[in-house]
Amino acid sequence: MIFFKLDSIICDTPARAFVKNVKSHNGYFGCDKCAQQGEYLSSRMTFPLDTCSIRTDESFAQKHNEEHHQGPDPFQGLNVGMVSQFPGHYMHIVCLGVVRKLLNIWLSGALRFRLPASIFNRMSDCLTGLRSYIPLEYARKPRTLREIDRWKATELRMFLLYIGPVILPSYLDTNIYQHFMLLFSSIAILVSPTLSSLHWQYAETLLRMFVTHFGQIYGKEALVYNVHSLVHLAQDVRLHGCLDNISAFPYENHLQKLKKLVRKPEHPLAQMLRRFSEQNTQQNKIPDRTSVSLKKPHFVGPVPNELASRRVKGQYSQMVSDQWTIKVSTGDNIFVIAGDIGRIHNIVECHDGIYLVNRRFSNKSVFFTYPFSSDFLNIYSVSQLSEQYLSAKACAVAHKCVLFPHRGGFVSMPIQHSVKH
Ligand SMILES: [Zn+2]
Repeated sequence: MIFFKLDSIICDTPARAFVKNVKSHNGYFGCDKCAQQGEYLSSRMTFPLDTCSIRTDESFAQKHNEEHHQGPDPFQGLNVGMVSQFPGHYMHIVCLGVVRKLLNIWLSGALRFRLPASIFNRMSDCLTGLRSYIPLEYARKPRTLREIDRWKATELRMFLLYIGPVILPSYLDTNIYQHFMLLFSSIAILVSPTLSSLHWQYAETLLRMFVTHFGQIYGKEALVYNVHSLVHLAQDVRLHGCLDNISAFPYENHLQKLKKLVRKPEHPLAQMLRRFSEQNTQQNKIPDRTSVSLKKPHFVGPVPNELASRRVKGQYSQMVSDQWTIKVSTGDNIFVIAGDIGRIHNIVECHDGIYLVNRRFSNKSVFFTYPFSSDFLNIYSVSQLSEQYLSAKACAVAHKCVLFPHRGGFVSMPIQHSVKH
């Protein structure tokens, strides 16, 4: 018998309306977080950003806004917060919703927003050119914009949180880019376990600005449910913690793992159970799951003099810890080491521990200044890799970074969202 406490129920928007037995997001009172009445514009339901009453668990239970409900509440008597325990879902609202909508507006929207085909082709080339810079924690590499309809939520998340801020200034009007940066910066705060707990209110202000400007730039008819519901996202983070706590990304990733466990079409459930029990048995044999493993031994250096005196036991090209994988190849070799951004060139095991041989970027400056300075997110423009090889204990590594080429140098961004998801 397992006791558990229900924290939240994660659904996409149509499923949430169905499960709660309320009006769908196409209905006039379809926002499940506030009582804003929708406006039907250009054959779609839109939700202007007026000041309206926020729904609460009590107002839902007492059906204050009768037009929101389809019928009896299916969770009645179960003590479930019908507003607070149904957080908005950023995979659908942000990644598959607003990010895809923006890309579609720029790709095939009204002529005044549409980018010329030549620019789109250049953007596509730029995206595929970044494939080798993507860390192995991301299962998918960037694809061209011609395949935008097949982009998965993780690809749209990668575009929002890492690629977009770096490549878009070369292609978009400054106002449109800065508007995108309001979304990027607020979601970067809300996915971070530390920043979200301290700055969720600031993220809420930025998201409200993003939605207001969305209506001003793309027209009132663009304020559909997904765009409107961004203003409620920070309150869900206040209640439940960072966005990855209330996301279906782990669930979807797990489905991928389940799929890989099935090797033949017959008896899929039995196969999955068997593989799971095999994996659990193997995991139980590992005495310390936080230990690191060193892989791909070699003898080619570099080994700085300071390490040669520490009795080198071996050199490796790869180190796997429970946090991340370090490699000496592009995509997985950039880390924050003792406050600097460094490239790893060798992994050396000495008698007193594991050392990372690295070179540091000697130039580090702020990458963007709107809506705040990029150093707030530890994002920097970097250049001029020093010639000197330094060594640092493996435990001095603070963050794994994504490093993209940019205007003769690079932009370094720490992996913001949880890579376990
Ligand atoms: Zn609302």
